[in-house]
Amino acid sequence: MPYICPICSAPLILGDKSWACSQRHQFDCAKEGYVNLLPVQKKKTKDPGDNKEMMIARREFLNKGFYQPLSDKVNQLAVQHHPQAKMLLDIGCGEGYYSHRLFEAMQTSAEHCALYGLDISKSAIRSAAKRYSDLHFCVASVFEMPFADDSIDLAIRIYAPSKVEELQRVMKPGSTLITVSPGPMHHFALKQKIYSQPRLHPQESLLLEGFNYLKHESLTYSLSLTQEDDIHHFLNMTPYAWKLSDMQKRQIIEQGLECEIDFKIEIHQREQSTAD
Ligand SMILES: [Zn+2]
Repeated sequence: MPYICPICSAPLILGDKSWACSQRHQFDCAKEGYVNLLPVQKKKTKDPGDNKEMMIARREFLNKGFYQPLSDKVNQLAVQHHPQAKMLLDIGCGEGYYSHRLFEAMQTSAEHCALYGLDISKSAIRSAAKRYSDLHFCVASVFEMPFADDSIDLAIRIYAPSKVEELQRVMKPGSTLITVSPGPMHHFALKQKIYSQPRLHPQESLLLEGFNYLKHESLTYSLSLTQEDDIHHFLNMTPYAWKLSDMQKRQIIEQGLECEIDFKIEIHQREQSTAD
């Protein structure tokens, strides 16, 4: 089992309905099947991460397949670069959309792989665990990941932040990390409605110490939203959409939205030598 105690870093052992370490720090399994590995004393706010409303908006939006090309591309690269990966991790997995699609894709190439999904938002993890019972989800911080050293073969990090020391620690030598961040033109049409001079997202590569930079790909397409619900969900999950006035929102809903999608996908390989 790859979980470690978030308080003392000792391995966690699964008991009857909880995980515990040798120091008797104990973490209960929720009835939905996930485990909360975020110690109360390390919580900065009562309910960290995306709130339930944002989570539901994103779940509904993703379910409609609007970002499926991204999921497909990530999965294709994962299978291509690390077909035999057994231990898979989705860093900042949210409600599990990309996690479960990655798991399905990897099962065809790797036998008996396991996927772990981590997010700080309890409502997102609860929803993920309820829906995808064959994956392993935990509430935890991406800055202190509750996984053993050198335990992960393949990780995806879609939009989430991370800490390079933690990535170096949990990723096995030679393992693969796929990161996704907004490309220059991402959501430009929407930003034009908000800012008088919208800035492009930065172009530069994400260079991570301790990892070799293998490849960069961009995925661009035009997203055409006409249904009120879809636009509503899109606006609710977009970080800067709260800057729109109610009137602007109504206008977008009435007129529909044609928006650029521009994802930057980068592949990093953990260096073979562990002497950092
Ligand atoms: Zn402990």
